[in-house]
Amino acid sequence: MCLCQLARPVKVLSTIKPMQSVDVLVRGAGVVGQCLALALAHGGLRVALRGEATSENAAGHRKHDVRAYALNSASVALLRELKVWQALAPSAVTAVYEMHVHGDRPDARLEFTAWQQHVDALAWIVDAQALHAGLETAIDFATSVTRTTADVGAALTALCEGKDSSTRSALGVHVERFDFGQKAIAARLTASRDHQNVAQQWFRSPDVLALLPLDAPQAQASYAMVWSCPTQRAEQLLTLGAREFEIELAQASTGFVGELTLCSERMAWPLTQALAQPWCGEGWVLLGDAAHVVHPLAGQGLNLGLADVAVLARVIAQREPWRKLGDARLLRRYARRRATPTLAMGQVTGGLLQLFSRPSPALRELRNRGLNLLDHLPSVKRWLGARATHS
Ligand SMILES: Cc1cc2nc3c(=O)[nH]c(=O)nc-3n(C[C@H](O)[C@H](O)[C@H](O)COP(=O)(O)OP(=O)(O)OC[C@H]3O[C@@H](n4cnc5c(N)ncnc54)[C@H](O)[C@@H]3O)c2cc1C
Repeated sequence: MCLCQLARPVKVLSTIKPMQSVDVLVRGAGVVGQCLALALAHGGLRVALRGEATSENAAGHRKHDVRAYALNSASVALLRELKVWQALAPSAVTAVYEMHVHGDRPDARLEFTAWQQHVDALAWIVDAQALHAGLETAIDFATSVTRTTADVGAALTALCEGKDSSTRSALGVHVERFDFGQKAIAARLTASRDHQNVAQQWFRSPDVLALLPLDAPQAQASYAMVWSCPTQRAEQLLTLGAREFEIELAQASTGFVGELTLCSERMAWPLTQALAQPWCGEGWVLLGDAAHVVHPLAGQGLNLGLADVAVLARVIAQREPWRKLGDARLLRRYARRRATPTLAMGQVTGGLLQLFSRPSPALRELRNRGLNLLDHLPSVKRWLGARATHS
């Protein structure tokens, strides 16, 4: 299918002259779209970045997004190349040196450390707002990226419109979805004890609670929380007053990180897994959540999206001189390279959730023993850790 079949008229743009054309039109100015625009501009292309003023979901959340992203070393390398990482305020980024995974029994625990993995850090936790703002500033300074509020003629249109991409639907792309029947509640917390750069995660059938260390608002003693639970339980937690919510949180985290205090509003996202097919056609390509959505329990959705950006930018830079940017054969090289890592991540996160969300006592015993067993198998741990830190 060709994008031109959508027969969208070329509109008068607010920041681009009518009929002016660019090499690539990036639709969607989330982190993936922002990074793609910058990466392609670094490769010498003229890019138009089209944001969405009216979106109620991702953009509405981003206005005061309380999330923080756990980024792997590949994502950080891309952001460094784009000169964005270096510009982030030190308080917006916290390195994770250890990760503790707790089962639903106090003695069931698996620990990963950066030194065992032979890496500088297992991950970096970055404030979502700060990252978005840093990318906006970089785009302001990128002379070959122009912002637009309407479509513009381009050899290639990159769809980075997130999980509910309307252009993807208009193209008739099939999306296989699985609804987990869960919501993720995100909020910021402060703690009575230092976080010591340790990320904590509790797999408490059926909930998964993650606390990611942060240095703001309180240096060394703040966390970004993501608490995934069945929708009804999530809605009940959202209606609780701050004090009651903190009591629930203390129970879920077994007091392990000290007393936790809520210091932001709570926001919630419904959780799905999704995979679009195909990822490209003549003149168009999908990236980020528009192509794939995974459960946030492994903190990998944005990492997958940024890996899409890096691979597409490389495929485009290495194309034969005669090949057009929108050539479907060229774009399939990108789709092929991204297929296996994306499928693998979907299977790992989906499988983990299935394993940890079932209330069966036998399964519960098995997974708690499994965590302890894994903790005593350094080579398997190293392998698992490497999958999580590099994807
Ligand atoms: C609670 C939670 C915690 C998470 N934590 C992590 C983590 O720790 N690490 C990690 O790697 N990932 C994490 N993720 C996943 C991560 O948030 C997403 O994978 C990532 O934000 C996807 O980015 P995106 O740019 O593809 O899509 P989005 O962020 O959804 O951006 C899409 C953009 O496109 C715009 N848009 C939509 N339609 C149109 C249109 N028609 N035209 C133009 N623009 C349009 C939207 O307004 C939006 O600005 C988490 C997700 C959740 C819900």
